[in-house]
Amino acid sequence: AAAAAAPPRLILDLEALQHLDASEAGPLTRYAATIQAQRGDYNGKVLSIRQDDMRTLAVIYDESPTTLTERFISWGVLNPEAKGDVEESSE
Ligand code: C2E
Ligand code: C2E
Ligand code: C2E
Repeated sequence: AAAAAAPPRLILDLEALQHLDASEAGPLTRYAATIQAQRGDYNGKVLSIRQDDMRTLAVIYDESPTTLTERFISWGVLNPEAKGDVEESSE
């Protein structure tokens, strides 16, 4: 992306999230519900999240942020434009 442009946003599809197998999507579902509660944002079909939240979720899922971003996109719960948005932290 150009230096002057904002990075693409990370947008969760809350309706798609409801239709996933809870055994895999459970941690993400609970995390999203927590953010909704903290914001008082209960009526949305989508939820914009922070870059830092993908790093936190990567720890929860024991994956790299890049791998987890691709998985969430493949599940249909994260916008495809998010791919490559989350920088890798040093490992
Ligand atoms: P906080 O981080 O101290 O943020 C306080 C308020 O600053 C937020 O109240 C919001 O009005 C504004 N704010 C901070 N960062 C942003 C941002 O990137 N974009 C926008 N649009 N506004 C921002 P709010 O929304 O009621 O959230 C209350 C608290 O809930 C936040 O306090 C934070 O502790 C937590 N929270 C809310 N959304 C998220 C999230 O997406 N991720 C995480 N990790 N925490 C969140
Ligand atoms: P956008 O970011 O492209 O979002 C389009 C629409 O997606 C929003 O329309 C809203 O219906 C939904 N949406 C996106 N993220 C969330 C979310 O975290 N929670 C909920 N409940 N809905 C979400 P809306 O609200 O009419 O906003 C229109 C446009 O206004 C947004 O387009 C964005 O450009 C701007 N905007 C709204 N809120 C914020 C904000 O907190 N920060 C910034 N920077 N822009 C905002
Ligand atoms: P946004 O509101 O368009 O904010 C875009 C970016 O501007 C954020 O990316 C963050 O880097 C910066 N930013 C905006 N407001 C603040 C602020 O009050 N404090 C600080 N330190 N930085 C701010 P980020 O963090 O990746 O967040 C992406 C999107 O997630 C935000 O887009 C917003 O839609 C949502 N979001 C994040 N945190 C909060 C929050 O606490 N409350 C609400 N309502 N939305 C949030």
